[in-house]
Amino acid sequence: MRMVRATCGLCGQQAETEEAPLTWVTSVENGRKLLYCDRCARENVRNIEGKLDSVYW
Ligand SMILES: [Zn+2]
Repeated sequence: MRMVRATCGLCGQQAETEEAPLTWVTSVENGRKLLYCDRCARENVRNIEGKLDSVYW
């Protein structure tokens, strides 16, 4: 049985569990669910919000 751990979409860091920690951010882009670890989420919060805005173009 293979365990699929939550993986950060930016740096590739893996969580210790299948479920992303509460500090991680989930972003849905083009129907794909992306995860960002707490560090990347903090560094890229503007980019993530920018992508969400672009959906309404
Ligand atoms: Zn990361």
